[in-house]
Amino acid sequence: MQIKTILNRVQKHKSFVYGAVHLVEGAEIPTLEIEIRPRSNSRPICSGCGRKRPGYDRSPERLFEFIPMWGYKVFFRYVPRRVECPDCGIRVERLPWASGKHRLTEAYTWFLANWARRLSWKEVAEAFRTTWDHVFCSVEQAVTWGRRHQDLSGVKAIGVDEIAWQRGHRYLTLVYQIDEHNKRLLWVGEKRTVKTLLRFFRWFGKERSQQLKFICSDMWKPYLKVIAKKAGHAIHILDRFHIMAHLSKAIDEVRAQEAKELKDKGYEPVLTKTRWLLLKRPENLTGKQEVKLSELLSYNLRSIRSYLLKEEFQLFWSYTSPYWAGQFLDKWCTKTMRSKIKPMKKVAKMLRRHRPLLLNWFRAKKRFSSGIVEGFNTKAKLTTRKAYGFRTYHAAEIALYHTLGALPVPKTTHEFF
Ligand SMILES: [Zn+2]
Repeated sequence: MQIKTILNRVQKHKSFVYGAVHLVEGAEIPTLEIEIRPRSNSRPICSGCGRKRPGYDRSPERLFEFIPMWGYKVFFRYVPRRVECPDCGIRVERLPWASGKHRLTEAYTWFLANWARRLSWKEVAEAFRTTWDHVFCSVEQAVTWGRRHQDLSGVKAIGVDEIAWQRGHRYLTLVYQIDEHNKRLLWVGEKRTVKTLLRFFRWFGKERSQQLKFICSDMWKPYLKVIAKKAGHAIHILDRFHIMAHLSKAIDEVRAQEAKELKDKGYEPVLTKTRWLLLKRPENLTGKQEVKLSELLSYNLRSIRSYLLKEEFQLFWSYTSPYWAGQFLDKWCTKTMRSKIKPMKKVAKMLRRHRPLLLNWFRAKKRFSSGIVEGFNTKAKLTTRKAYGFRTYHAAEIALYHTLGALPVPKTTHEFF
């Protein structure tokens, strides 16, 4: 059996035939080159308008990289024809295995993009002895195709989240679909301003925005403002994950400050190495940590009182009636305001200000657990981590769509992956 017999099975092109196969002598990596010829009497297709046009001349021979096999790099060798098109002028012909000036065949592009869902881009480049840039371009093409072909109908619930990326305070705004039947990343935008979220709604379109029923978000002011303006009809829910994150952050602040004060006054360092004790749920503590916690509780420290306030707040989520949840919230806020612990008071004030939106969670019958947004948040952070080597916002954006977007891929006759 010849190699071209296999090629005709995995990728047959109607108007082209595979020719001779050459082993390239002296190549650093073993390389195969496969000639491609147009079928005799076939007329070239104009790359401008997609119509069959008379041939004009031929441009220089080009190499197109195909999927490697058995440790061999595989290239197609072809001399493209140029057409004389009455509409577009002199143009190079359209090729079914590669688009535009791309050096990689489309099959190879999708192959690399598929692997990039499982491995980091660097690992993909190493595994297939290609470059980071080739992997990046492949993923970029896959994302562009997928976003153009994705189905955006039936989106009823979305979650808005932000993640910090790179060092310093640079943020990305992420919008997810969080419906029961379909959870995916819909949109990524730079920063977390009013303008950022407005851009999402512009992209999403008026009609689809009108069909939104639930929106989950953090208490971040620009988000609240835009959501009220663009989707005021939807039930806006402040999600549990973000609220608990605010409380944890407050405890962190109280603890750090108090530890410093105690140290300055020359007290025993009871608060060092207690950060995780105070941030963990009691049921997740180890035996040793439990002992340490009960020891800590005997001190009347601000950190401990904050910790107890946060634990008490967990009860809030167990209510079913918005009315009683509201009563609980009011009591908790009053108590916290009396605690005289500044960072905690700040959270209480914020919760009071957003009381109706908080209670919307109960009105939505707790359908949107904190797990969805939290899970996406963790994955998004993992994706943008430095290990992936993203220097630009654009690369991070592409990576996020590729891993979290659940984007469609074209149907092919042969699965290489
Ligand atoms: Zn044309």
